[in-house]
Amino acid sequence: MKEVYFEQEPEPTDGRGRNTELAIVTYTFVFLFLIMIGYLVYLNTWKAKELNSNVYNTKDNINMDKYIRGSILSADGSVLAQTVTAEDGTEVREYPFANKFAHIIGYSTNGQSGLEASCNRELLSSHVSVLSHLNEEEDVKTPGDSVVVTLNANLQSVAYDALGSYKGAVVALEPDTGKILVMVSKPDFDPNTIGEVWESLVTDNTSSVLLNRATQGLYPPGSTFKILTTLAYMRQKPGEFRNFQYDCISQVTVNDVTINCYQNKAHGQEDLKSAFAHSCNTAFATIGMELDSDDFHSLCEEFLFNRALPTTMQHSTSQFTLEGGASYGDQMTTAIGQGETLMTPLHMALVAATVANGGIMMKPYCIDHIQTYDGELVSSVKPARYKRMMTEEEARILSEYMRETVLSGTASELGWYNFSAAGKTGSAEYYSGDSGRTHSWFVGFSDVDDPDLVVAVIAEDGGAGSTTAVPIASQIFQAYYSIYGN
Ligand SMILES: [Zn+2]
Repeated sequence: MKEVYFEQEPEPTDGRGRNTELAIVTYTFVFLFLIMIGYLVYLNTWKAKELNSNVYNTKDNINMDKYIRGSILSADGSVLAQTVTAEDGTEVREYPFANKFAHIIGYSTNGQSGLEASCNRELLSSHVSVLSHLNEEEDVKTPGDSVVVTLNANLQSVAYDALGSYKGAVVALEPDTGKILVMVSKPDFDPNTIGEVWESLVTDNTSSVLLNRATQGLYPPGSTFKILTTLAYMRQKPGEFRNFQYDCISQVTVNDVTINCYQNKAHGQEDLKSAFAHSCNTAFATIGMELDSDDFHSLCEEFLFNRALPTTMQHSTSQFTLEGGASYGDQMTTAIGQGETLMTPLHMALVAATVANGGIMMKPYCIDHIQTYDGELVSSVKPARYKRMMTEEEARILSEYMRETVLSGTASELGWYNFSAAGKTGSAEYYSGDSGRTHSWFVGFSDVDDPDLVVAVIAEDGGAGSTTAVPIASQIFQAYYSIYGN
């Protein structure tokens, strides 16, 4: 039999060598363990939101087995989305208002969109107390939390009907909080039948039905942009804007570029306020040539062109391209909101809201709070300031000019009611095929001394702002005061 010898480790000469080794191993493991804990804390706090909304995270789908998808409720208590369970146990997502909230609420099958997508986690979790779970059987699903939005269902319905058969969008928000009360986009779809009409919606390239035009539609702003041209002029020519005088003869031509006033109207002798109220293109084209284009560009970027808006809502970036070295033609067309400038309706509403709110832009939001299915508050969203965008004095002057537009200018239809309003119209020209057409814009606010509501309207191919967008906005202001009181 062969003897097997194991090689012996040499005995340490004293106890210290072994202790040192042990200490190194121990500390190494403690160190690695701390890193691991630190990483877990990091994942669960800072990175949690990002990971939760990651499309590869299937945790929410697992939650579908535990929770019934929660409801989405309007600020005035209407059900905008809910899950009902049939007798055979199948769950159906219902949208009682059908097309009216299609884009902002979205859908939760065929992928997800709108608030159904951004609140997926909240709708598929529950904060009902542990006690109420105890009586329940193991395999019974818990109702998920409800999302209560800032939208007013009554006002949304009025805006939806007022926009009528026009393609376009309406946004209405509170200037001092950023709370969105209305968000309409047309053409629309019925989220109740999204499964059946899906194929036709995604293959239709002509009208982009699924696009939320309020946040993702990019339009030439037309004369509504004169709010920012005026601000640029006030800042660049502080000594001159108050004494501005212009004699409008309906058109101006510089280097072969001709700018006309709408319908070739000659506005005659004007100061800056009346040029603004009449929406005089030739006066503003002339102002455009006096502006330093680089400074104008910086002002527009401060006002969030070429940048993201301060919101978590999915949105497109508005575009402003004019720079130093631009031709007179480009300067003139840009000053009147034509040229290459493009803007979303939400962005337009934020610019007017900043004027209405004394120069401070609030972050727009549409989720008010989360509550359990039986109404216990889970968390709520507070209004948040984005930043001061202009001085109080600048806001006061722009507000005065916008008020004049209602008193004696292109939005005079808003002067007939028991609330005071201020605003700016736009008749934005665009080309469809070979023919020139006009989008109808309005942006403005009511009550002028202590503004309650900002409304932005775009009616595609709607003609002049004064004839189409102003009457639509008027219906929303009137409905607002009949709901909330003066
Ligand atoms: Zn004019």
